[in-house]
Amino acid sequence: MTTTAITNIGCLVTNDPALGDGPLGQIRDAALVIEGTTVAWAGPSAAAPAADRGLDAGGRAAVPGFVDSHSHLLFAGDRTEEFNARMSGRPYSAGGIRTTVAATRQAGDRELTATLTRHLAEMLRQGTTTVETKSGYGLTVEDEARALRIAARHTAEVTYLGAHIVAPEYAGDPDGYVARVTGPMLDACAPHARWIDVFCEQGAFDGDQARAVLTAGRARGLVPRVHANQLTYGPGVRLAVELEAASADHCTHLTDADVDALAQGRTVATLLPGCEFSTRARYPDARRLLDAGAVVALSTDCNPGSSFTSSMPFCMAVAVREMGMTPDEALWSATAGGAAALRRTDIGRLSPGARADLVLLDAPSPVHLVYRPGVPLVTDVWRSGERLVRSPGG
Ligand SMILES: [Zn+2]
Repeated sequence: MTTTAITNIGCLVTNDPALGDGPLGQIRDAALVIEGTTVAWAGPSAAAPAADRGLDAGGRAAVPGFVDSHSHLLFAGDRTEEFNARMSGRPYSAGGIRTTVAATRQAGDRELTATLTRHLAEMLRQGTTTVETKSGYGLTVEDEARALRIAARHTAEVTYLGAHIVAPEYAGDPDGYVARVTGPMLDACAPHARWIDVFCEQGAFDGDQARAVLTAGRARGLVPRVHANQLTYGPGVRLAVELEAASADHCTHLTDADVDALAQGRTVATLLPGCEFSTRARYPDARRLLDAGAVVALSTDCNPGSSFTSSMPFCMAVAVREMGMTPDEALWSATAGGAAALRRTDIGRLSPGARADLVLLDAPSPVHLVYRPGVPLVTDVWRSGERLVRSPGG
């Protein structure tokens, strides 16, 4: 198998404390050898083994590919005016998620696929090499299954979110809709998904309904993840921990009992700062969760309504500025943290045996990702050992 050595890396983040300094396992003046699809070796440049091909990183920093563990990319339609009205202090009466549901049902498969792949390409250019994405804008048996079928052609991390909101047809009968979600819709969707998710929130699904959705999914082999405690305090986080969900996402309104549950359980706390940024809402307190010992992931929540950013570096910058994270913590949460939220051990790190998902930055230090917000620092991206983004002349 062909080996490629990337040498003269100014600072390499491995996320393996055995290989370098601190929790990020940082190595100065580093090299990394890719063999096929995986990392074969990482360490100081001076000790690098011989390889078939070489690439001089020119002192640039290298980090693991970002792991975006929460997005909603199976959608159609446009909500520019809703955002513009919200940011301009004007009332806006259209129905939020319902607007997207109506447009998504109208769209053909080609349109949904084109929107998905356009956003996946946009994410890759910004250094994201693993993306989870969800259904949740179809809300009929056929439309949810269709969204998941399309998603599964482009990522392994597919989540069934039939319980996003109560479908408009069931407005007066939410329990009837839950029966649909846990019955025929689950039958149609389970073969295409790895995860099951529910929006546990006032105005969406209460604790009992969320429990019914997650336990039904679990009985079909899907692993739970939960939209929890985003807009109000509620039962979502503790339900997620109790059912050993991989992740509780949002975690904005937390009691001390919620924080303790996350610190002691197996469930990752996934924070989505693009959402609070785009809705002028209160940010989750990452510092409080980290100090309590919880595992924290960062993700974009990329969706057309509440967080239309695909940029992990942007979310890291907001998390550092507004949520009490250090730059190192934000980078860990955007890589290893995302991997933990997806229960993956092959990504989110750059140690031998890991998938060769690597990002080179036009910067001497990974701190520049948050020190220089909004600046496109990603120059080169490898995924599974293949260089899919390359710098001009590189
Ligand atoms: Zn979401």
